[in-house]
Amino acid sequence: MASTNGVYAELCSLKREAATLSSVAHLLGWDQETYMPSGGTAARAEQSSLMAGLIHERETSERLGELISACEADKDIQADDAKAANVREMRRDYDKATKLPGELVKELANVGSRAQDAWKAARKANDFKAFEPWLEKMVGLSRRKAECYGVPDGGELYDALMDDYEADARAKDIEAVFTPLREKLSALVKDLLDNGTAPDLGPRRVHVPGAQQHAFGLRVIEQMGFDLKTGRLDTTTHPFCEGLAPGDTRLTTRYDEDYFMGALYGTMHEAGHGVYEQGLPKVGDDGEPSAVYGTPLADSRSLGIHESQSRGWENFVGRSRAFWEWAKPVADGFFGDAFKKYSVDDVFRAANVVERSYIRVEADEATYNLHVMLRFGLERAMIAGDLAIKDLPGEWNSRFRDMLGVEVPDDARGCLQDVHWSFGLIGYFPTYTLGNLYAAQFFEAIRAETPDLDDRIAKGDMSAVLDWSRTHVHALGRRYSASEMCEKATGKALSAEPLLRHLEGKLRGVYGI
Ligand code: ZN
Repeated sequence: MASTNGVYAELCSLKREAATLSSVAHLLGWDQETYMPSGGTAARAEQSSLMAGLIHERETSERLGELISACEADKDIQADDAKAANVREMRRDYDKATKLPGELVKELANVGSRAQDAWKAARKANDFKAFEPWLEKMVGLSRRKAECYGVPDGGELYDALMDDYEADARAKDIEAVFTPLREKLSALVKDLLDNGTAPDLGPRRVHVPGAQQHAFGLRVIEQMGFDLKTGRLDTTTHPFCEGLAPGDTRLTTRYDEDYFMGALYGTMHEAGHGVYEQGLPKVGDDGEPSAVYGTPLADSRSLGIHESQSRGWENFVGRSRAFWEWAKPVADGFFGDAFKKYSVDDVFRAANVVERSYIRVEADEATYNLHVMLRFGLERAMIAGDLAIKDLPGEWNSRFRDMLGVEVPDDARGCLQDVHWSFGLIGYFPTYTLGNLYAAQFFEAIRAETPDLDDRIAKGDMSAVLDWSRTHVHALGRRYSASEMCEKATGKALSAEPLLRHLEGKLRGVYGI
C-alpha cells in the first residue's frame, strides 16, 4: 500500500511542479500584454522560450511516463474512480506531448510565426495569392502533426487536430449537429431581417468615459460571483482571461467610449471564463493550493466547455431582459442622463440587434455560429485534401452567399480575416459554436431547476446560475469527457435544439414577428 500511495503522490507532485513553472510562464505573458514597456520585448522572448523549454522537459520526462504506467497497472489506484480518471487524463497529455518529433514542433513554430507575418501583410493588401503558399505549408505541417497523433477510432485526420482543443470530438458528430443548425439559423436570420422591425441603436451609441465603464464592469462581474479578492480586471488591446495560479485569476478588457456594450459584454465573457477558473478545485479549504492542483482534476475540461461558461454569462444572462431590469438602474448611476432616457426594453432590444456582417468577431449572437460553421466545413475539407488551397476564396464566397445571402466584397473581409490558420490553429473554430450549444443546453437545465430564474436575475440574484455551474461543471475538472459531463448535467446528449429555441424565442420577440 505504501508503494501505491508513493507512486501516485510522486506523479501528482511532478505535475504540480510543471504547473507551477507554467504559472510563472503565464505571469510573464500576462505582464507582457498589460504593463511591460515595449523595450522589454526581446528579453521577454528569451525568458518565455526558456520557460517553455523547461516545462516541455518536465511534461515529457521519462520518470513521468514510468509513474503513469505504474499507476495504470495498480489495482488500488484503478479502483478509485477519481484517481483513475486523473491518471487517464495524464496519460492523454503525456502521449500527446511525446508523440510529436521535436523537429516538427520547431518547424510548426518557425513557419507559423513567418506565416503569421505573411498573413498580416496579405490581409492588409487584400492579396490572397501572397498568403496562399504559406497556408499551403501550414496545412501540410498540420496534416503531418495529425498523422503523428494518429487517426482516432472511427474518425478522420481532422479529428486528431481537433483533439488538442476538444478531446474526443469527432467531425462527423459535429457535422450532424451543425447541419440542421445552419439551415434553421439561415432561415431565422432571413426572416428577422426581411420581415421584422430592427431595434433602435441609440442606447448602444451613448458616450460613456472608460473610467465609468470600468466601474460599472466591476459592479457587474461582482454580481456574477467573480471574486475580486482572488482576481482582478485590467485593460489591454486583446481581452483575455488567465487562470494564473490558485487564488489568482486575471481578466482584461478594452474600452470604446462610443460603444460601451463592446466592453460590457467582453468583460462579462472573460468573467465567465474567470468564474470557471475560480471554481476549479485548485485551492483547498485552508486557502493553500489543493492536493490536486496541477493535475487534470483541477484543470478545465476543454475549450468548448470553457466557452460555454463565458458565452452563458455573456449571452444567456447579459443579453436577457431580466439582466437589464437589474442592470439598467445600476448603469444609470454610472452612465448619466444620456443613457437614463432609455427604457429597460430599449436597452434589451439594442443588445440583440442581428446583422448580415462579414466579420466573425463583430457578429451578433445568431449569425456568429454561421461564421463558425463556414470555417469548420472549409478547414475540414482542406485537411482531408478535398479542397485545394487555391480554391479557398471562391469556395468561401459561394458558401457565404448561401448562408447569409450577401456577396463577400473582398478576401480581407472573407477568407483572410482570421489569424488562426496562419499559425496552425486548425480544429479550433468548432469549439466556439460547441460553447454556445453547451451553454444553451446548460441554461435549459438551470431553468428547469429554478423556474423563477428571470425574477431572481431581475433582482440581481445570479446565484442559481453560479451554483449550478459550480456543481455540474467547475468542481469536476477533467474527471469526465465533455459529452459525459453534458449528459450527466442535463440528462441528454448535446443537440442543436436548445440553442435554436433560445434564439428563436428571444429574437422573434425583439424583432416583433
Ligand atoms: Zn472566450
